[in-house]
Amino acid sequence: MMQRGEFSIRTRSRVEFVDITSRVAEFVRKCAAGKGMVHVFVPHTTAAVTVNENADPDVTADILAYLEEAVPRKGAYRHVEGNSDAHIKASMLGCSQLLPIEDGRLVLGTWQGIYFCEFDGPRSRKVIVTAGAGEG
Ligand code: ZN
Repeated sequence: MMQRGEFSIRTRSRVEFVDITSRVAEFVRKCAAGKGMVHVFVPHTTAAVTVNENADPDVTADILAYLEEAVPRKGAYRHVEGNSDAHIKASMLGCSQLLPIEDGRLVLGTWQGIYFCEFDGPRSRKVIVTAGAGEG
């Protein structure tokens, strides 16, 4: 049985990681039983979703600093909107994550969190979650 849900995020700066672990975990708790998978999808071209360390905030700061250095805001880009760096970073990290569900709970490693990655904020954003789980 598949369950679909979505939630909104209001990002506060141009580039930012927002921890959405508890929102995804809550969705899984409410609508999934047994074993399965949850798909987390970001329906935007200048945002992404990734899984990484949530214990030391320097890790996400380092990831953002690396991305900024690799893909600077200003460059010889063609896209007239002026946000090519955001499109490139979004494609580097990807628009979805597929994670396991065990006993009706989201499975993550001890130090893992799910991050919504904003690259062209601040904006109102959306995350779509789809869980498929069952007994057996
Ligand atoms: Zn654009």
